[in-house]
Amino acid sequence: MITGSNVIDLRSDTVTKPSVGMRAAMANAEVGDDVYSDDPTVNSLEERVAELFGKEAALFTPSGSLANQLAIRSLVSPGDELICETNSHIARAELGAGAVFSGITTRTWLAERGLLNATQVLELARPDSGPYLVSTTAIAIENTHNFGGGSVQPMDQIALLSKQAEELGLYLHLDGARIWNAHVASGIPLSEYGKYFETISVCLSKGLGAPVGSLMISSKERIASSRVWRKRYGAGMRQVGILAAAGHFALDNNIARIAEDHLKAKKLAHACAGAAPTTINPDSVETNIIGLDLSEAKMSAIEFASAARQKGLWVSALGENYVRLVTHMDISDEANDRACFILQELLNGAFMVE
Ligand SMILES: *Cc1c(COP(=O)(O)O)cnc(C)c1O
Repeated sequence: MITGSNVIDLRSDTVTKPSVGMRAAMANAEVGDDVYSDDPTVNSLEERVAELFGKEAALFTPSGSLANQLAIRSLVSPGDELICETNSHIARAELGAGAVFSGITTRTWLAERGLLNATQVLELARPDSGPYLVSTTAIAIENTHNFGGGSVQPMDQIALLSKQAEELGLYLHLDGARIWNAHVASGIPLSEYGKYFETISVCLSKGLGAPVGSLMISSKERIASSRVWRKRYGAGMRQVGILAAAGHFALDNNIARIAEDHLKAKKLAHACAGAAPTTINPDSVETNIIGLDLSEAKMSAIEFASAARQKGLWVSALGENYVRLVTHMDISDEANDRACFILQELLNGAFMVE
């Protein structure tokens, strides 16, 4: 079993460790009690991120899940409905938080690679349903789409959905945990994304390499009331400028370099397709996530992940036949090449004809 620094950890882009420069920025941060809004580094981070998206205000949160949950509770009343894609993080990976904490009901649409089609979504939406059926009040869009394989949502569909949703009085929420990846891959400015959504959540702790931190972004009024709810949930934080400083450092240094993660992911996808063409279409890999389909392999996802681990490559088995690999800033070119080699070896074995 390979351990320590020889491990290539592609389970997620959350596994990055703060760099020397980031740690120095954290150590030197000016701080204050953020529950009193006295932390200058948190305040400037909130202002900075709001401005990046062309919005009025933002709120620092310890996780992306909390940023999502504060946003959807702000948009949807108890008993009303949020609609989102079947494999979205909000539906699958937040453990029913919308129902548990906010009394929100959810319906979902299923989309190939999670890709947005405005017409499909609008067919599901039922605003103002009266006393008999549940009323839809908000729509959540994930960009990039995690379980969709890091897919970038088509801007024309976002614009179309936003226009028609507005006519119906429906709010749009953007789960932008990896909006940085969508921005770098598409070249679309963050402020352009900001135009179409009432609320946005973003993560600093994924591809940007910060140890902790997300933000909810919206109007002044919604952020003021979400600040109250954040405290009510127990997530009012004190001298947390230490963490916000990591966020500033990440925004200063780590956005443009995400392009390198995308190139590495492409390389991995080509290596996998070269060994086993049914596992992945490299053209579908737009950002830093590679989803391998092992349904025609002789190994399950769990067996594949444990065989990879023996060789020092850590991947995520997320479905019976679905393995996810995520590139990030702590993967060197050399480690990525080694990962390509290990994957080819494993796939050759998993698809061997006897
Ligand atoms: C990671 C992620 C989040 C937030 O996750 P936390 O672990 O709560 O920070 C939200 N949405 C998507 C799509 C994600 O990948």
